[in-house]
Amino acid sequence: MTQLDTRSVHAGRDDLTALGVHVPPIDLSTTYPLPDVHTGGASYDALAQGNGPDGGSLVYQRLWNPTVARFEEALAELEHTDGAVAFGTGMAALAACLLGTVAVGKPHVIAVRPLYGGSDHLLSTGLLGTTVSWVAVDEIAAAVRPDTGLVIVETPANPTLELIDIAAVVRQAGDVPVLVDSTFATPVLQQPARHGASLVLHSATKYLGGHGDVMGGVVAGSREWVGRLRQIRAVTGGLLHPLAAYELHRGLQTLPVRVRAQQATAAKVADWLCAQPAVEQVYYPGLSDPQELIGRQQSGPGAIVAFTVAGGYEAAAQVAGSLRLITHAVSLGGVDTLIQHPAALTHRLVADDAKPSNALLRLSLGLEDPEDITADLLQAFSRVLRPVG
Ligand SMILES: *Cc1c(COP(=O)(O)O)cnc(C)c1O
Repeated sequence: MTQLDTRSVHAGRDDLTALGVHVPPIDLSTTYPLPDVHTGGASYDALAQGNGPDGGSLVYQRLWNPTVARFEEALAELEHTDGAVAFGTGMAALAACLLGTVAVGKPHVIAVRPLYGGSDHLLSTGLLGTTVSWVAVDEIAAAVRPDTGLVIVETPANPTLELIDIAAVVRQAGDVPVLVDSTFATPVLQQPARHGASLVLHSATKYLGGHGDVMGGVVAGSREWVGRLRQIRAVTGGLLHPLAAYELHRGLQTLPVRVRAQQATAAKVADWLCAQPAVEQVYYPGLSDPQELIGRQQSGPGAIVAFTVAGGYEAAAQVAGSLRLITHAVSLGGVDTLIQHPAALTHRLVADDAKPSNALLRLSLGLEDPEDITADLLQAFSRVLRPVG
């Protein structure tokens, strides 16, 4: 197969020339003409069981959509999995995975913190019928029970950027499938299935879309999981809209260039932050990688940097509120730089003993010139260093 950059541009588009078009057609049909009742019914059965259309009728958009299928095919190719299933959001994608394990009578989940705040909350509340054991990475094997259906890890982790050795987690999990939330890495920097993960989850809202204008989620995995997840999606209806799928599929074409450029900026900004008196500690895998996973598991440190501000919550809040170029907003992975306070926002619902520091800010670097980013941070830091008035 050709290289990742090439496939990012062409995956899910190999039939376009034969179709006589240059970009993928967008299919907005909610329903499809049926050839006759008998074959329509057979198509319905096949799709409702999580299979592809295989030349039959597509029946109804909740069962299959060709524009969404193109994005899924492209993402699966980049992740080196049998297939992928796309959802309306990253949380809908995670919810489908949890329902998928409950459905086979294995409601126990082992999870390693930190996770994205929404994922932590969904697991902690047990809203979908799962129970959770929160463990440290080296306690996974001991936590496995007969009813354990999933091990869930996030690497790099949100918001503190710890890296987890996926292959080591897979070894500990034994027969239990491992789900890796790889949102921060994207398939450009890491492909968890190559290290044994059964399921790779992305909030496509972030880097895959990359422009802050589309929500989506996607899970890449084995044939068996893909069928099960499609079945769950058909029943619960957490669909990705075809227009959103078009945008996400287009987003993949520039993903490698965006991620690498944003990563280069993040590395510069992380170094600069280390020298700032207003900053206590900088969290960035490029600065600290004790397990040497960069190079082995992840091709680069990524484009998210977190740091604690000297002066605690008040100072962090002042910095977030004083920026002019950088937007104070949740979310990440877009072409513009965003900053947010995880403890107050994305991780607000996380249990107190697992919450990130109140002095922590998370920065998602965009495509601006790094010097403009550091100049904006400097003017914000100057307000917390000098007493106002
Ligand atoms: C944003 C995010 C999610 C949730 O995705 P949505 O698209 O907002 O539903 C899950 N995991 C990580 C790491 C995220 O950053």
